[in-house]
Amino acid sequence: MNLLDMLNRNTRLLSSKGVRSTALAATMPMRNYKFAFSANMKHTSAKLFRLPCNLVASKADGNLSWNVNQTKEGSSIEGWQVEEVSPVKDFHLTALRLKHPQTGARFLHLARADRNQTFSVGFRTPPPDSSGLPHILEHTVLCGSQLFPVRDPFFKMLGGRTLATFMNAMTGPDYTMYPFATRDPADFGNLMSIYLDAVFRPRLRETDFRQEGWRLEHADPFDSSSPIVFKGVVFNEMKGAFSDPQSLFGQRLLCSLLPKGAYGKVSGGEPLTIPSLSWEDLRSFHAQYYHPGNARFFTYGELNLPRVLEYITENYVEASAKELPAVPEILQEPRWSKPREEHVNCSRDPMAPNPENQSTVAVAAACCDIHDLNETFLLDVLSDLLIRGPEAPFYSRLIEPGLGSGYAPATGYDSSTRDTIFAVGLQGLKSSDVEKAVKSVKEAVNAALSNGEGLEPERVEAVLHRVELAARDESHCMGSSLGLSLLSEITPLWNHDGDIVSFLRVGDRVEFLKRSLKNDPNLLRKATEKYLGEKNSHQLILTMSPKEGFEEMQLKEEQELLQSKIDKLSSQDKEHIVQFGMKLAKEQKQDEDLTCLPRLCASDLSPIPEPDGAVNVKDTMIPIQYSVQPTNGVAYIRATVDVAGLPEDLNSSLPLFCLIASKMGTSHRNARDFDRAVSLSTGGISFGVNVVAAPAPACSPLSLRAFLVMSTMCLERNAAKALKLCSELWQAGAKGSWMDSNRLAVLLREEAVALANGVPHSGHAYAVSAAAARVSPAARKREHSVLGPSYLEIVRKAASQASQSETGAQEILNKIREVGAFLLDHSCGDRLRFSINSSPESEPSIINEVSTFLKTISVGPSSSRVNPFEMGPTLSPELQVAPNTHYVLPLPVNFAAKAIATGVAFKHPDHAPLKILAKLLSARYLHPHIREEGGAYGSGADISTDGVFSFFSYRDPHSIKTLDVFNGSGKWAINSSPKPITETYLEEAKIGIFQRVDAPVPPGNRGLDRFLRGVDDELLKWHREALMTVTCDDLVRVASEYLSVTSKLPVSCALLGPQNDVLEKDSNWKIIVPED
Ligand SMILES: [Zn+2]
Repeated sequence: MNLLDMLNRNTRLLSSKGVRSTALAATMPMRNYKFAFSANMKHTSAKLFRLPCNLVASKADGNLSWNVNQTKEGSSIEGWQVEEVSPVKDFHLTALRLKHPQTGARFLHLARADRNQTFSVGFRTPPPDSSGLPHILEHTVLCGSQLFPVRDPFFKMLGGRTLATFMNAMTGPDYTMYPFATRDPADFGNLMSIYLDAVFRPRLRETDFRQEGWRLEHADPFDSSSPIVFKGVVFNEMKGAFSDPQSLFGQRLLCSLLPKGAYGKVSGGEPLTIPSLSWEDLRSFHAQYYHPGNARFFTYGELNLPRVLEYITENYVEASAKELPAVPEILQEPRWSKPREEHVNCSRDPMAPNPENQSTVAVAAACCDIHDLNETFLLDVLSDLLIRGPEAPFYSRLIEPGLGSGYAPATGYDSSTRDTIFAVGLQGLKSSDVEKAVKSVKEAVNAALSNGEGLEPERVEAVLHRVELAARDESHCMGSSLGLSLLSEITPLWNHDGDIVSFLRVGDRVEFLKRSLKNDPNLLRKATEKYLGEKNSHQLILTMSPKEGFEEMQLKEEQELLQSKIDKLSSQDKEHIVQFGMKLAKEQKQDEDLTCLPRLCASDLSPIPEPDGAVNVKDTMIPIQYSVQPTNGVAYIRATVDVAGLPEDLNSSLPLFCLIASKMGTSHRNARDFDRAVSLSTGGISFGVNVVAAPAPACSPLSLRAFLVMSTMCLERNAAKALKLCSELWQAGAKGSWMDSNRLAVLLREEAVALANGVPHSGHAYAVSAAAARVSPAARKREHSVLGPSYLEIVRKAASQASQSETGAQEILNKIREVGAFLLDHSCGDRLRFSINSSPESEPSIINEVSTFLKTISVGPSSSRVNPFEMGPTLSPELQVAPNTHYVLPLPVNFAAKAIATGVAFKHPDHAPLKILAKLLSARYLHPHIREEGGAYGSGADISTDGVFSFFSYRDPHSIKTLDVFNGSGKWAINSSPKPITETYLEEAKIGIFQRVDAPVPPGNRGLDRFLRGVDDELLKWHREALMTVTCDDLVRVASEYLSVTSKLPVSCALLGPQNDVLEKDSNWKIIVPED
């Protein structure tokens, strides 16, 4: 994950969060891997070293010299049989399916005019037990291979040798995959070579296994008197994952509903089962599953397929053994004769909106087989109809009465396992209300069965509209790459050798469903009965509740396991532990010769940024920025209103306004009717807060501004309807039409739960936000209204107040109405701006519709046309001079952060060197100390546009030690010997930065930086040149000026994690324990 991405996401741009039921297969690309554990993540260009794999077509023959259209089914390419050539018009691509006859290796190529090429190799890896074998193997193959015998080549590549827009590896419940994406053809060849060698010829040394999996080691490896403890990257990662009640519940639900085969085991690893895994098991698992016969190769984009095939075949496929081990099919779960019930204990969650209500229940049912594409699509649609929005029977019976705080984890339909799963339930329940919740689930099913509630044709139409829109919209793609999104959608099905090309034809499935519904109007009711009714006896009621002393008990179990292992140690074993620990620690510290790794160079980068295409439209009533793009018939419309002048006492209500504004209905329509209208013609309407520290002034005082942002997207043919709905909503906000306090309470509760659940996944973002808030006005405003502990607290308090009494709810609603009246009234013309992205044909008509919009909200022409980002300071929140902050949370791991207010904003000459220094520190200093030695899952450093230099750690077993590492960074950069800042490292850091700077921007988002942050092509070009010309001396200079311990700059640290004895005694730390 990219910290900057997270922190810069100031606006909620139509993000669909909440239940995964909204994820219609193959269409909603942002679906999370529910049980996927990702190892080496980071988005992450090179050409000094030419790889054996030269995929770079010379400029003369062009990258597209190979023509997909001339490929025929039944022909052969480089020894591979072409089994299928098939256009998929839904995504403007041609799918090629190939098979290698001798080994059985499978290959899918999606040819599409897209420079963002994608590659993946994946394997079916059913876990034999819960020791985390597939997951630990995924980590360990990334620790060096025959061609690339260096520790951790992935991270080394990420450290500035590649322009990859995405690099990762994932372990799913029954598969493991290794995908990457890049827009540079040379880089593609480099990375493909590394990936292939990693999976087919990894070193799999014992030290790698011990580092990544588990080991017994002295707390301090160089002090044999320190206690022996468990260590290991995956061991810690899974402890973190299982401490999160959400992922615990999701995992248990899968294991309990499909217990017999692969899904009954934890592919990621059950923390206390991990120490049963041996190095030998790991190697034999690799031999059994990681071979061409079980491999699924995937490529996407404009690339020369024959060259890719030639390389793979010569080097890995032909070379493999003739007798490849058979890989068993993952079987269907034998169906139960009667439903089952199970219970799970968890720890208490003080972040929950109501500490008393912490039970969770879900009713889950095994559904059809993953291979039945029309049926899985039908179930996707059905799930959406039953769960999503105020008209859905589950929503009205489970969410609206306020029985629980929100849907249970795993709610929705999931078609990523052999037997697909439907689940629905509630979390945040009183334990006494669990039965009531189960009863409500049954009532909802009966309502759908008996009178077709929620299954009305107009609602079906709305869902199918959403499917069409999502298939055309590239802005929510995983890693901004359509290739990756499509890969992630097809992977589970491909893993069972399903018909992946038909699966990609979303339009066909939509048509099939429409025809089926015509032939049988009762189709959806019948499906409800078949899968969710009593006829389906393979159903599970899973409950989960906190148990007093749960964490202590877990700790005790770990201690007992540890002790039993220690008791069995001979003196020889003990000596081995000492020696091995020191060996590993030394190895981790050792500098390696990386010349075997390929790389891109900064000199290969283009000095000119890709233009955002945005222009200011002339002669319009208010400023409109327009960017004409290949949006595939989708229009992206955003409007901002400057919030300057909003009365102080309404500040906390602004984020609440954003949360509820589009979900309360209007003067003409109640919430249900409005929701229906919105989903029939748009992809949703949402509001958010955008906080900007203007890049223009060199340094403080920074001009700080905040904007309310309204966003919508729609098929271009629906733009008039969409803007009409926006107008209706705008007027409702301006007039204060919202009265329904029950609805308010429901919405706030949902958000509070979603936020609290997100903390264990994005704790580092919370920690950075909290630390930065104490040293920067802009960060403080963000922490308060976008992401941070204060924001969480605002929502949590409001949710609790609104749920407790009608008066309490009305009080909140009154303030929200005041915000609307202030920001949206007819005098807002001077503060209002529009940004629109669409295909060229629609430009004139959409501009016309915006004029109509302005008339309906009675806004006159704007008198001011000054650059909104260059006005003087308008908001000046007092900086709170306070100590560091520790947020005590029931987590077994920490998230640490440190923020330094350098005052070096985006346009300051030192900004570029500090940005590169942050990158260099991340790769060369923080990563070895915090991840490799410390066992944390991740770490990094960055500088924000307003000049806050920050450090963070992610899922970190240490706290103080990590803060010491942060504090030592200046000294390391300035005084270490030999000098750590070398030309090579500088080069790597530059490439690393450009990887982010040049990350692909989907058509719908181009020009957004200009619109929301005032960063136009000109400024970007200047910044780019500044980055390219940074020298080693610059880095040393800025390190001593801004990061040395003697600098007098404002500094603050924040820590999220368990109670901490050392910090409690330190007066520089403020301890915050969430109240019960
Ligand atoms: Zn992992």
